[in-house]
Amino acid sequence: MISIKNLHASIEDKEILKGIDLEVKAGEVHAIMGPNGSGKSTLASVLAGREDYEITEGSVTFENEDLLELSPEERAQKGIFLAFQYPVEIPGVSTTNFLKTAINQVREARGQKALDAVHFLKLMKEKMKLVDIDQALLSRSLNEGFSGGEKKRNEIFQMAMLEPKLAVLDETDSGLDIDALKIVADGVNTLKTKDTATIVVTHYQRLLEYIVPDYVHVLYQGRIVKSGDKSLAFELEEKGYDWIKEEVAAI
Ligand code: ADP
Ligand code: MG
Ligand code: MG
Repeated sequence: MISIKNLHASIEDKEILKGIDLEVKAGEVHAIMGPNGSGKSTLASVLAGREDYEITEGSVTFENEDLLELSPEERAQKGIFLAFQYPVEIPGVSTTNFLKTAINQVREARGQKALDAVHFLKLMKEKMKLVDIDQALLSRSLNEGFSGGEKKRNEIFQMAMLEPKLAVLDETDSGLDIDALKIVADGVNTLKTKDTATIVVTHYQRLLEYIVPDYVHVLYQGRIVKSGDKSLAFELEEKGYDWIKEEVAAI
């Protein structure tokens, strides 16, 4: 589904990503872990198409198309969901209205007819049940005054509605309690299908007690220095990152 090859990215002439290789296939959940400052959020931002980053080398192909040539909107239309693309507060615009616009943009780009009110509401009801979100939250202005948990629930609901092929979630360590993490984990587990893939960037070992990733990668100093299965996440929880740093230093 997505193939990242020798990806190098800089910000303000400082190289942050120094040759990332990653292949994600349909049906897989990949976790990206690593010490603070290793480049995890940079990788997620580059996949999102944020403009502050300069790609100096390498390639990213999504379903055989050059992802790096596409705008953030085009990426969304191709079926990529980037959670932090929409963390903004939008006064006066409810999640419902926001999603109606977003879904119909995606449908238009795919050559599908816009959903009418009846079908949109039917889809809403179905997905609300699926991810267990309250109607009241959806009527409020998007993200305005939302708690950490409400933001996460909303984000997972957006993901459920948009039915992306690939979801990239950057779970930063700011102000998220364990309940909010569980919401994310439940959502990822519920929405997983054999045709979709997820990349979860996480600062939290604990998230991986609830999401079972197929692969775990450790990013350190802008490179993936170790990959394994979920047992690697448990090893990191137990031993921390120092042994990885020592291994890298010994090379
Ligand atoms: P992580 O998510 O793994 O904690 P980041 O991708 O946020 O790491 O950051 C990687 C490195 O890039 C850090 O050294 C950080 O200081 C640097 N960095 C990130 N954003 C910027 C920026 N806007 N300007 C300068 N340096 C940045
Ligand atoms: Mg950080
Ligand atoms: Mg980060």
